[in-house]
Amino acid sequence: MTAPAPAFSAAARARHRASLGGETWDVLVVGGGITGAAAARDLALRGLRVALVEAGDFAEGTSSRSSRLIHGGLRYLETFEFGLVFEASAERRRLLSLLAPHLVHPLPFLFPVFRGGPVGYRKLQAGMWLYDALSLFRNIAPHRMLPAAEVRREEPRLRDDGLVGAALYYDASVDDARLTLANARGAHEAGAAVVSHAAVVGFLHDEGGVRGARVKDCLDGETVDVRARVVLNATGPWTDALRRLADPGAKPRLRPTKGVHILVPNERVGNRHAITFRSPVDGRVMFVLPWGAYTYVGTTDTDYAGSPSEARADPEDVAYLLTSANAMFPAARLVEADVISTWAGVRPLLGPRRDAGEGLSASATSREHDIWWDRSGLLNIAGGKLTTYRVMARQVADRAAAELRSHHDVEPGHASTADLPLPGAPSEPWKEFEARIRGAAAALGIGEDVGAHLARAYGEDAEAVLSAIEGDRALGGRIVEGHPYVWAEVAHAVRHEMALTLDDLLVRRLHLFYEAPDGGLSAARALAERMGREEGIGWGTEEVEAQLRAYREAVEETRGFGGVDNTSG
Ligand code: FAD
Repeated sequence: MTAPAPAFSAAARARHRASLGGETWDVLVVGGGITGAAAARDLALRGLRVALVEAGDFAEGTSSRSSRLIHGGLRYLETFEFGLVFEASAERRRLLSLLAPHLVHPLPFLFPVFRGGPVGYRKLQAGMWLYDALSLFRNIAPHRMLPAAEVRREEPRLRDDGLVGAALYYDASVDDARLTLANARGAHEAGAAVVSHAAVVGFLHDEGGVRGARVKDCLDGETVDVRARVVLNATGPWTDALRRLADPGAKPRLRPTKGVHILVPNERVGNRHAITFRSPVDGRVMFVLPWGAYTYVGTTDTDYAGSPSEARADPEDVAYLLTSANAMFPAARLVEADVISTWAGVRPLLGPRRDAGEGLSASATSREHDIWWDRSGLLNIAGGKLTTYRVMARQVADRAAAELRSHHDVEPGHASTADLPLPGAPSEPWKEFEARIRGAAAALGIGEDVGAHLARAYGEDAEAVLSAIEGDRALGGRIVEGHPYVWAEVAHAVRHEMALTLDDLLVRRLHLFYEAPDGGLSAARALAERMGREEGIGWGTEEVEAQLRAYREAVEETRGFGGVDNTSG
């Protein structure tokens, strides 16, 4: 029997960090978004010596700022990108059924048709049939076309004026940050040295090109030279910046665009389904999506030239999203004061090729990914989407493996991530598993909503959180009244999910940052003090204050539009 992997803890991060300079790695992966985390896992599963460094937290970039959908890509039908739809549908099926049934859940969508609108009923019906066909008729359920009367029953607060009918079809929702985290942890469990809050600040070269990187530990400021046979740039919207660091003459490959979402209370909108529609402002496809007690609306899609770290929702973005949502749900009359929080992500889209894409709009830029070697010797991957992360990771791992075999005398093993569940994936059917965890939570007197949250966030590890509560009932108390997050999760995040800062805890482990009107600031001090006492953290009074300052700033940046300050809540 093999020994269980050491926990994915803050203490493990310190060990991994200390090991970075000690050997020549087969592959150094730069970037701990979904692309880098999944690539590191795939490479480590092949028996390679892999290090992954991430400048911030896992998923801190685009991978926690998406529309949170695992989707077949309905709108790629319009651009005849059938291969993309086929591949994405297969990945959606795999994630739902086997790889991450705790993180990925079926989501019914309505796509309404209005008289005189850009998409007719018959055209939509044909598209839906094709969508089902490209998933080999094995989507969650086949689509159904609903007449107006049935749409009114299903979605009573949807715009009625000119309603012709709607398509009811299925995609899936995902906790994007946790999907990324599961891959990072999977990489760690497969033997990779996974280090968050460690940024590449320069590259090491020899006559063959890039042979490693200078890495700065963003927690203590120290730098270390990390040698590697292959360096993989998986930095999403930062791809070109990294490429220029390796070779100042590298020509840009990306055409990044910014996408913003707003979160509002579900009761203000009243949508029961996810709604796909075209914005009356500019005709773009967008979504009104359910998220527990909330609804989020997205997304914008505008060219973005600034630093990805500084992308924020502007008042114009918020106004556009409110206008679009109000057109679909007129009774909602959403205003800026209804916006609980916002998030803005930068899509690492590949720029149009010179021969094909001049004049393409931001929305029309391809969502395909590409993998290429730079003349500097850096291996790059960019583009794509969360949904197909596993395929992207396999392809880039194949490229790295081929290089190691041909030029470095390293023979990678074989591994398939297609049938290897992600850490936390329950082995019993989802419905039974969730009912069991809800029941166990109720038996401890902590509320079924907490049980449901624990099952979805942690999968099988929910049992560990519950047994901590069994040992100390106070840990079952809610951190903020009205939200399902409990105190036991703080230690769990540090000991099993490598949370290292207050921001890591509240933004990407718990989602209080987005969901609580004050971002969880009311509990932030108690959280920071408790977190600071954990092994591998060890904050003194000054550091607790610094964590609180940084967190408060992050909250303020995502709230308060049109003079409305939501941070005092
Ligand atoms: P990132 O997640 O940005 O990861 C790159 C990482 O590199 C970052 O964490 C960054 O900190 C790190 N990094 C940068 N510089 C350095 C350095 N010097 N050293 C170390 N690390 C560094 N896809 C879907 O499938 N479904 C959706 O619903 C969906 N919705 C989307 C909505 C929006 C608004 C956007 C913007 C994208 C959406 N996508 C969606 C696409 C998907 O989110 C992205 O394709 C994906 O998250 C990109 O992941 P990545 O790992 O390539 O980049």
